[in-house]
Amino acid sequence: MKPPVLIDVDGVLANLTASVLDLARTVAGIYDKVEADVVHWEYEKSIGWPALWHVVGERVNTHELCYRLPEYPGAIAWLRELEREHGEENVLICTSPFNAAWASQRVAWLEKRGVKLSRQIHCSAKHLVSGFLVDDRAGVHAKRAPGATFCLNRPWNASAVEPVRGGYEEASAWLRGLRGL
Ligand SMILES: [Mg+2]
Repeated sequence: MKPPVLIDVDGVLANLTASVLDLARTVAGIYDKVEADVVHWEYEKSIGWPALWHVVGERVNTHELCYRLPEYPGAIAWLRELEREHGEENVLICTSPFNAAWASQRVAWLEKRGVKLSRQIHCSAKHLVSGFLVDDRAGVHAKRAPGATFCLNRPWNASAVEPVRGGYEEASAWLRGLRGL
């Protein structure tokens, strides 16, 4: 059996950056930052707001921040395309939870978009999960099997050295090649 397709959520399907920048404006009064300024995965460094993750944690509890994250344009259509190509049962979500409330809202976010719980893996140790992973986090490939990780281009990974990277279409082609379609 071929290893499954694994799709990360934050930075791949869900636009966490948009929500974080929105919080920076409305809570911290930081108005001059846009997505292109977020050049580190550590948002607090890019935005210059040390309390950021504390506030994110609060907003998860009080405003369902994770459940309300917007999708990237075309993200869910791309996911449907992968499901058609590889079979739904071979396309799994692999997402690292921020905390328990986050995880529960992420489950609901995914179910609302047609990904049932049995296709969701909520785990920070992505290096222990076998499959072909599409992820936006710089360096995530380093602990995984060679050739098992595709870096989805985002401003915060632009300067990182990644074995293979690109947008949704390139990721689809990479997966087709590896899974022999
Ligand atoms: Mg991510």
